[in-house]
Amino acid sequence: MSHLIHRHLCQRPPVAVGASGVYVDDSLGRRYLDASGGAAVSSLGHGHPDVLAAMHAQIERAAYAHTGFFTTEAAEELAALLAADAPGDLDHVYLTSGGSEAVEAALKLARQYYVERGEPQRAIFIARRQSYHGSTLGALALGGNTQRRRHFAPLLIDVARVAPCYAWRERAPGQSEDDYTAGLLAELEACIVGAGPQRVIGFCAEPVVGATGGAIPPTPGYFKGVRALCDKHDILFIADEVMCGMGRTGTLHALEQDDVVADLVALGKGLGGGYQPIGAVLARAPLVRQLSEGGGAFEHGHTYGGHPVAAAAALAVQRVLRRDGLVAQAARRGAQLRALLHRAFDAHPHVGDIRGRGLLLGLELVRERASKAPFAPALQLHARIKRQAMARGLMIYPMGGTVDGERGDHILLAPPFIVSEAELGEIVTRLAEAL
Ligand code: PMP
Repeated sequence: MSHLIHRHLCQRPPVAVGASGVYVDDSLGRRYLDASGGAAVSSLGHGHPDVLAAMHAQIERAAYAHTGFFTTEAAEELAALLAADAPGDLDHVYLTSGGSEAVEAALKLARQYYVERGEPQRAIFIARRQSYHGSTLGALALGGNTQRRRHFAPLLIDVARVAPCYAWRERAPGQSEDDYTAGLLAELEACIVGAGPQRVIGFCAEPVVGATGGAIPPTPGYFKGVRALCDKHDILFIADEVMCGMGRTGTLHALEQDDVVADLVALGKGLGGGYQPIGAVLARAPLVRQLSEGGGAFEHGHTYGGHPVAAAAALAVQRVLRRDGLVAQAARRGAQLRALLHRAFDAHPHVGDIRGRGLLLGLELVRERASKAPFAPALQLHARIKRQAMARGLMIYPMGGTVDGERGDHILLAPPFIVSEAELGEIVTRLAEAL
């Protein structure tokens, strides 16, 4: 019997006792190929010696230093590295203990920015019906998954919702991609205008939709249009790159591929590569200047935010990523995995779409390819496939409820960037058996 509250309350998962490279071992001697990077977290793989050494060194120097009293070299160097590589003037960094906290901090920073600007009436966020932004109550309110939200209403913040950018399923037959994109942007503008731009704080979206969509990339020009609308109506654009950032999509920041710079970017997962819980918010210089002009502080904080060991681990992860050219490798391996998936599943009767960017790839499952009709939610197909995959020693990240927690099953693949070509082949072979 377990005293732990597990994610699926009555199911005790296998006990992980070891992990190295792209493999995780359990207490029964079974070995799992990590095709999901946990939850798109592990970029360098498990047990990287440089990261372990950096963590050990930091533990021995100072395992903890509260940010109310001290900063640390590790946190300063991490912030400097992130700022140096950030696009535009996104050169201020706020460290958190994870992705939800990063989103939460971004929301509060945005809100406080407008309060300091003398516009306290701004209280509305706009988000998309297909998104996951975290599990704390603010981030949950922002998220589009109704299933995740349903037990917790009323939620804490005021959120207006617009359609996701999900061309494969939502573009009308015969409609061009440009027209589809223009329609989404018109809806977003109507939402901003309807709410009253002077009451809106900002628009928040994942550049590549992760957990709730199975790696859905935007249509060309979509985020350029979003940026233009945010500028036109003087609202902030908040990018949630917790899953798709830090090299996962084949560029350091996912939005680089859309040639767009957000005002605030939430990071997590791959930032620390799974070695320590850590997240960050990147903020554009004028926002932080506004906050500091009032002479006050950012009214936010957590005891463990900017933890020295977490900062040291993330710094080491980020240095290895750059030194070993692993962002470019994620792009290369992503292209290889995508080709293997097409070869294996293009003719599969229940694989409707293969998509994504870099090493954030998704398969959407359909009952029938022609109509794209999904399987009934009650079947819990994604959960069954996960069990089948685990029985074959393969970790995949499955989700149901693609839009509004209702439609479709998909599988996310997000292996560590160090995965070999042979291991990619093994992932696809085991996935085919599980399917
Ligand atoms: N945003 C996105 C896009 C995510 O995928 C996640 C985690 N799945 C989060 C936020 C929340 O991060 P965490 O679970 O580290 O709190």
